[in-house]
Amino acid sequence: MNYKIEVTLDDVNHILSATEQIEYVNHSPETLTFLYFHLWPNAYQDRNTAFAKQQLFNNEDKFYFAKEESRGSISGLDFKINGQNVKWELDAKNPDIAKLTLNQPLVPGGRITISTPFQVKLPDSFSRLGHVGQSYQISQWYPKPAVFDQKGWHPMPYLDQGEFYSEFGSFDVRITLPANYTVGATGVLQNEREQTRMDSLARVTAAIKEFNTEDLAFPASAKATKTLHYKQDRIHDFAWFADKRFHVLKNEVVLPYSKRPVTTWLLFTNRVADQWIGRAHEINDAVYAYSLWLGDYPYSQATAVDAALSAGAGMEYPMVTVTEPEAIIHEVGHNWFYGILASNERKHPWLDEGINSYYEFRTKALRNKYAGMVSSEVNTNAFGKFLGVDDLPPAAIDNPAYLSAVSCGLDQPVTAPATQFRTLNYGTIVYLKTAQLFQYLEKYLGTARFDSAMHTYYRQWQFKHPYPEDLQAVLEKSTGEKLGWFFKDLLPSTTLPDAHLQTVTSSGGSTQAIVRQTGKLALPVQVAALDAAGKTLESHWTKPGEKEQTVTFTASGIDRIVVDPEYVFPELDRRDNQSRLGALFPKSEPIRLQPFLSADRIDQKQLFVAPSLGYNTFDGFQLGAAFYNSFLTEHKLNYVVMPMYGFKSSRLTGLADVKFRIPAQGFLRKVELGVLGQRFANFHSIAPSLTIHNRLHNPTTARQQLTLAWHYVQDDFLPDFHAPHLAYQLSTQNAVAGTQVNLDVTHFRYTTSVPTFIVTPNTPEEGFQEVDFSPTRFRLSLENWFKYRPEKEIRVRGFVGFMADNDYSRSPYYLGLAGSPDYLKQTPFFNRTEMFTTSQGSSAAIRQTDRQDGGFRNGVPVMSQEWLAALNLTADLPVTSFAVYLDLGRVQEQDKLFYGTGLQLSFFRNALQVYFPVAGSNYASDLPKNFKDFRNSIRYSLNLQRLNPFRLLDELQ
Ligand SMILES: [Zn+2]
Repeated sequence: MNYKIEVTLDDVNHILSATEQIEYVNHSPETLTFLYFHLWPNAYQDRNTAFAKQQLFNNEDKFYFAKEESRGSISGLDFKINGQNVKWELDAKNPDIAKLTLNQPLVPGGRITISTPFQVKLPDSFSRLGHVGQSYQISQWYPKPAVFDQKGWHPMPYLDQGEFYSEFGSFDVRITLPANYTVGATGVLQNEREQTRMDSLARVTAAIKEFNTEDLAFPASAKATKTLHYKQDRIHDFAWFADKRFHVLKNEVVLPYSKRPVTTWLLFTNRVADQWIGRAHEINDAVYAYSLWLGDYPYSQATAVDAALSAGAGMEYPMVTVTEPEAIIHEVGHNWFYGILASNERKHPWLDEGINSYYEFRTKALRNKYAGMVSSEVNTNAFGKFLGVDDLPPAAIDNPAYLSAVSCGLDQPVTAPATQFRTLNYGTIVYLKTAQLFQYLEKYLGTARFDSAMHTYYRQWQFKHPYPEDLQAVLEKSTGEKLGWFFKDLLPSTTLPDAHLQTVTSSGGSTQAIVRQTGKLALPVQVAALDAAGKTLESHWTKPGEKEQTVTFTASGIDRIVVDPEYVFPELDRRDNQSRLGALFPKSEPIRLQPFLSADRIDQKQLFVAPSLGYNTFDGFQLGAAFYNSFLTEHKLNYVVMPMYGFKSSRLTGLADVKFRIPAQGFLRKVELGVLGQRFANFHSIAPSLTIHNRLHNPTTARQQLTLAWHYVQDDFLPDFHAPHLAYQLSTQNAVAGTQVNLDVTHFRYTTSVPTFIVTPNTPEEGFQEVDFSPTRFRLSLENWFKYRPEKEIRVRGFVGFMADNDYSRSPYYLGLAGSPDYLKQTPFFNRTEMFTTSQGSSAAIRQTDRQDGGFRNGVPVMSQEWLAALNLTADLPVTSFAVYLDLGRVQEQDKLFYGTGLQLSFFRNALQVYFPVAGSNYASDLPKNFKDFRNSIRYSLNLQRLNPFRLLDELQ
């Protein structure tokens, strides 16, 4: 396929005007009657494109709220084939895909010339193509045929998350623009004059001592224009980046095998110029290291450009990459995995992003051992020491970033297509998990054997479209090993193996270790004999496919046997991986108290500790500590014990939360058996529970959670009760709208003494009698919200509750009190003792409410033993950070519509909300009598679950 494109940039109206001519050769063995074309600028035309919809599910509302003039599109198309008009139409679903029906069938080996003019209205920077002022990122910009390969046509709409698949060809591109622009582009610049200009810019940049990071102004565009001419063979895309402010650094790297020099260019503005200078060597590092481990870079130049990009830290194009300075190695590395080995990135993102990340970390490790996604952040400084990870191999620090997702059932198969990953997983699974698994494969095969096999892969598949099975075939043939356990078992799996040392025995100068693996997978794992100083004396790998294996060591002076000493084996629990010879308890490691969090270790069990602080009016200030055994990665058994001391009540308070994870599969992502015990203020409670979470298959899956619990509550002022409780929650949301449904049923059982006249109204004597009660409460709420503009939303909540067996219930429904009944003790309250007696508290502690039941934000002390219905409306005000609210409610017992309205302020992700009632049924004559009346009606709610660090991962997903 040979492209000829001539394009002119209009930098006043941000429009490209171009003509394109493509020589299209049918290299397939099939006769073609039509062609698919990509018109990707149309992805930015409106809110209905695949790109626009994906943005919403990735929680990005910038494009959704963009003005018409900020959007983009392609127009002026007039396709001709061999100079003749041709029938073409836009895809019904995707306006960024077109289908051209050929006038004559194109036979194998046949050749046609397709031509068209086109205009691109450049969008603002929402993804990859766009402009920020007069800084231009021109990518995915021209009409481009889709790939037709042995699996057929691969048309694909443009997406932010999920990349591309393109045919190789030669490009001849002429770009006309004002003369004072500097351009970084795919291909080799042909204009001698511009080459001289670039060289002189490079000399100027090299002489700059200090960059003025404040100065980001665009100089005026030159009246005169210039036409830059670029040519290149054997590439599959062409991108260019133009800016009048670019500084230029020019360098050279000599390739390891051919000794051919490659010119490297860095183009950057003042914005983060110092970081570019500091990382200037990294472009050369990447070109050299990837060449060394895979094969020489085939082109004569490589360029990295700094530019505003709204799709991650960088984006790769052949020979040119647009990137933040910290991603230079990764993006330049894509020349191999994407550029030269041109796999289908949309379908198999791990083949380019994942394997490229493996080489990226390996390249960075040439200068710093701790070079991974996480280890580069924590291990180079005092922070690493504080976390107690400074003596661990890098993999021990990097692996938890994906193991944490695995541990709570949020894993997805490495091999899934790009569109299936939820945003966070796209980074942790596609990039990091793949990279870590390839490191494991490298260690298993041995670096030399692995490198040699990858050299073969590069040689055989360069300038082609390899599929996963092609990579497996080359690696198997080259190494002589069957690797189905890696490609077919491990990569597509969301369960992991778990290896542990069963027994270790010594006899007659040799040591036998029995290694067992549980779970579905049985993968090779390294087993090593270490001396007392931790040095490896001897090590062996177990064979794949065998769950129990005996490993024999002949070395002398063995102190301990360790499974997976380099932390590369993809397992969750490493605490059973070590056995000390001759120790009284060979498999019990010392327990270390570690502040806050750390990485899991083979040689130590860890107990984490963090300070805790509390307050309520009964206990006063409480000070204590939280002890827990897991934070980022959940274990089978997870616990938090938080003892505190109440300085006013002079007694021990606190909570203990123990959860046992039951292996979950299929629809279930997480099943937990737990017990929560609490002792605060005037109550103590214990609640065993079973909680089930559904699996989140893709970004659009709704979250569901079902909890079955049994609460036992002992309250100083009320009869003890038992309450079986069933709760179901469903929530779904995107960047601009969401829905949440809550349904729960609570069956209370308690005995209390009641005046006998209530039991039998005709009894003359007064007295008390013990009576059993068992009311059941049903509650259903539905909440919907949508944004009417960025950061501003409208919420509607409806609630109904009714009681079965309502005899003298002590658990009625409330419209809204100053304080909440909170029967099941699920919300931390400052004051639990006064809330039943006061509707307008005078102290701040009893003005707390939790928005249960009627959800009234005004203190309307109305309750029901029968049924209650409420409607709550909230609308953020456009200009201030206040929202207005209106609550409406009815109860069975009173023939009246209650209401409350006022203003609301929210803080800390809605964890704290403060309500200012302006009018409503809480006031004697619907309005406050005076300022004091108004002031005393101010109330607030606290939802600390929103800030719970133990739910961080769940919240992020
Ligand atoms: Zn990448």
